[in-house]
Amino acid sequence: MEPAIKFPHRSPEKMKAQHEQAVTDIKAAIISKLTLGVGKDAAQATERDWFLATALAARDRVIHRWLAEERATRAEGRKRVYYLSLEFLIGRLISDVISNLGLTDVFRDALGDLGVDFNRLQAAEPDAALGNGGLGRLAACFMESMATLGIPGSGYGIRYDHGLFRQVIKDGWQHEYPENWLSFRNPWEFARPEVIYDIHFGGRVENTTTPRGTQRAVWHPEERVEAVAFDTPIVGWQDRHVNPLRLWSARAPDPLRLDAFNRGDHVGAASAQARAEAISKVLYPSDETPAGRELRLRQEYFFVSASLQDLVQRHLRDFGDLHSLPLNAAIQLNDTHPSIAVAELMRILIDLHGMEWSEAWQIVVGTLSYTNHTLLPEALESWPVPLFERVLPRHLQIIYRINSEHLKVAEEKFPDDSDFLASVSLIDEHHGRRLRMGHLAFIGSHRINGVSGLHTDLMRKTVFSDLHALYPDRIVNKTNGVTFRRWLNQSNPGLSKLVREACGDVYSDWTRIKKLDEYANDSAFLEKLAAEKRANKVALAKVIRERVGIVVDPSAMFDIQIKRIHEYKRQLLNLMETVALYNAIRSNPNRNWAPRVKIFAGKAAASYKTAKLIIKLANDIARTVNDDPAVRGLLKVVFLPNYNVSLAECIIPAADLSEQISTAGMEASGTGNMKLALNGALTVGTYDGANVEMCDNVGDDNIFIFGLHAHEVEECRAIGHNPGAIIAKTPMLAEVIESIEQGVFSPDDKSRYGELMAGIRNSDYYMISNDFASYAEAQRKIDQVWHTPDVWRRMCVHNIAGMGWFSSDRTIAEYAEDIWSVPV
Ligand SMILES: *Cc1c(COP(=O)(O)O)cnc(C)c1O
Repeated sequence: MEPAIKFPHRSPEKMKAQHEQAVTDIKAAIISKLTLGVGKDAAQATERDWFLATALAARDRVIHRWLAEERATRAEGRKRVYYLSLEFLIGRLISDVISNLGLTDVFRDALGDLGVDFNRLQAAEPDAALGNGGLGRLAACFMESMATLGIPGSGYGIRYDHGLFRQVIKDGWQHEYPENWLSFRNPWEFARPEVIYDIHFGGRVENTTTPRGTQRAVWHPEERVEAVAFDTPIVGWQDRHVNPLRLWSARAPDPLRLDAFNRGDHVGAASAQARAEAISKVLYPSDETPAGRELRLRQEYFFVSASLQDLVQRHLRDFGDLHSLPLNAAIQLNDTHPSIAVAELMRILIDLHGMEWSEAWQIVVGTLSYTNHTLLPEALESWPVPLFERVLPRHLQIIYRINSEHLKVAEEKFPDDSDFLASVSLIDEHHGRRLRMGHLAFIGSHRINGVSGLHTDLMRKTVFSDLHALYPDRIVNKTNGVTFRRWLNQSNPGLSKLVREACGDVYSDWTRIKKLDEYANDSAFLEKLAAEKRANKVALAKVIRERVGIVVDPSAMFDIQIKRIHEYKRQLLNLMETVALYNAIRSNPNRNWAPRVKIFAGKAAASYKTAKLIIKLANDIARTVNDDPAVRGLLKVVFLPNYNVSLAECIIPAADLSEQISTAGMEASGTGNMKLALNGALTVGTYDGANVEMCDNVGDDNIFIFGLHAHEVEECRAIGHNPGAIIAKTPMLAEVIESIEQGVFSPDDKSRYGELMAGIRNSDYYMISNDFASYAEAQRKIDQVWHTPDVWRRMCVHNIAGMGWFSSDRTIAEYAEDIWSVPV
């Protein structure tokens, strides 16, 4: 049900007539695009042609609003927000655009008249997978919320030719294939061949003194690459506002060295082009080689420099003077990847606009802010000084100067404390001199935020404790959120309709969803809720059968863990408990088991051996369990390949149980947890990341929490915990480990999991043995609740109702007020 926003206060007959007119118009628009924009006749058009024509017709309906909002922003001199992110995990856009325009029914009917099925047409759009996981998806949700709240802004990133790899499972192992989202043209974007910036690398710096005695640095770079802009309009709910996502593509200034080509060196003639274009070729080039690491640094500088040049130019055009930059622009750095912005903005202000150091520094700190996404030391970027100096010599100079000013302040506040100085320095002297990019982002920002209450707390106490002592007002918390338009309205239209009938337009006002609590004892409502869940599970069962050939029963509990495969996320804990359950069912088949389908999906980084082995284990367990007649009907295990946004949109509405079981203290926030609860799944989780705040919002009785808390994990690690003793005391766990290490699930290679299990016996960094018993106990409690459907459904209602606060509209409104100082 779409709101009748276009024609309020009309009679049903009038509305019907209006709808029919709109359908006629859209039909004509689609046919016109198909003919003139795609060059095809309806009779010859493929599904993809129809998608292109429909997308182009929808895009037309966004442009006027976009240009009007842009004119208004300029005319009123409004402050703009620039969101810099190396990742935007967007997924498909067609239903985003059409449903935010309030035109879903119109397009569906128009296409139906043309003999095209809207659902199949949507499936013809490739996912824009310009991100790895949660961090990139957060950027995409934030773009949509900024447009919905009418905050003028733009996203800045890289237009990768190839996004995240396509995962293919062969014989249980992950294989990576390049993904080709641009191969059939991207109808959403506008190429801006006139918006080009020069990006420089390498060379040397000449330090001169002007006749008036001031020091000047002149960078003589050795290489120039061009950044070309591509804009995608992002439309907010009910077409209130449209913002651009501006992505940069790299190209060489000269496509070919003609002399070399004519000499017969056809490959060498294009080598400069290949080197330049490599920058926007792939998302996250492998960092296993020095060349890969250098490319990553080039990517980061490339998109930061282009974005800053672009926004500085816009500011000068609109306001004439760079001193007012902090008043009129807020730049958010999504993680440390864009942290070179601190030095690049200093360079632009000082070298290119002749500013003094201290006034430039005030502008930088006043404009920038930084979001930290992880406490894992290996994920906090740092660059070897020699590499950095070779790629960005002028920036290294600037960073040294920033560091010396910063250390002066530190020395004043904490005199004679060399450990403190070493810890807050931008240079890590311990590991062969490296630049700490997290520190740089911190020092150059007026606000640094964590992404959940617990994470922010740990940031203050761990990675940034010393910087926090120096700048105690800078760290703030902004708990993540997700956009309900995509993760409820579009992905789960049935549930969305029920929620809207009960609560009104929860998409304009997230606080309204709380009203759903009033329906927790309304048995008619609970029936309708269960029917929607059932329909979504039937649909997912069909997808499972089509993709992996496994038949699952939609009346079983769908127990779901979907996310990147990582040891700290503990898919292994879930798999080991699955084995325990399998063993228990076999030895006690007549107990009152709750039939379950365990569904896993997720990609492992291509170089992450252990994560890839965990995928293989999931597939080995699935084969063994699914083939065993002794458990048939009580337990099925499924690994769905190629997890991405579109697959998430298909799985999440069908979830009964959401697995959020990371080692406490290690998941910064999680957003999958929010999406699943919003769609009526109950959570089994540790007291980690945003799970903590989910507890507060849904009530302790409506969530299954188990395991060590973050401080207990830390204490355990500090005293050196002893997994052997725990395993010896937990026969069920010992049996699981033995069966896996003896090859019960890998008869073709009995030693396959020997090392993996030895890791748990010997060190168990991720605390699987410590949490195993309480996890298994929580699962059996979940079985009991499953057997009382009314209780289960009531809990589902409280979960959906409790998710309002996790709308990314709430998150963005907080950023706007506390960090960006822009009105909402
Ligand atoms: C939401 C989302 C994530 C993040 O999931 P977590 O469970 O928070 O790690 C990753 N990938 C995709 C495709 C998503 O939609």
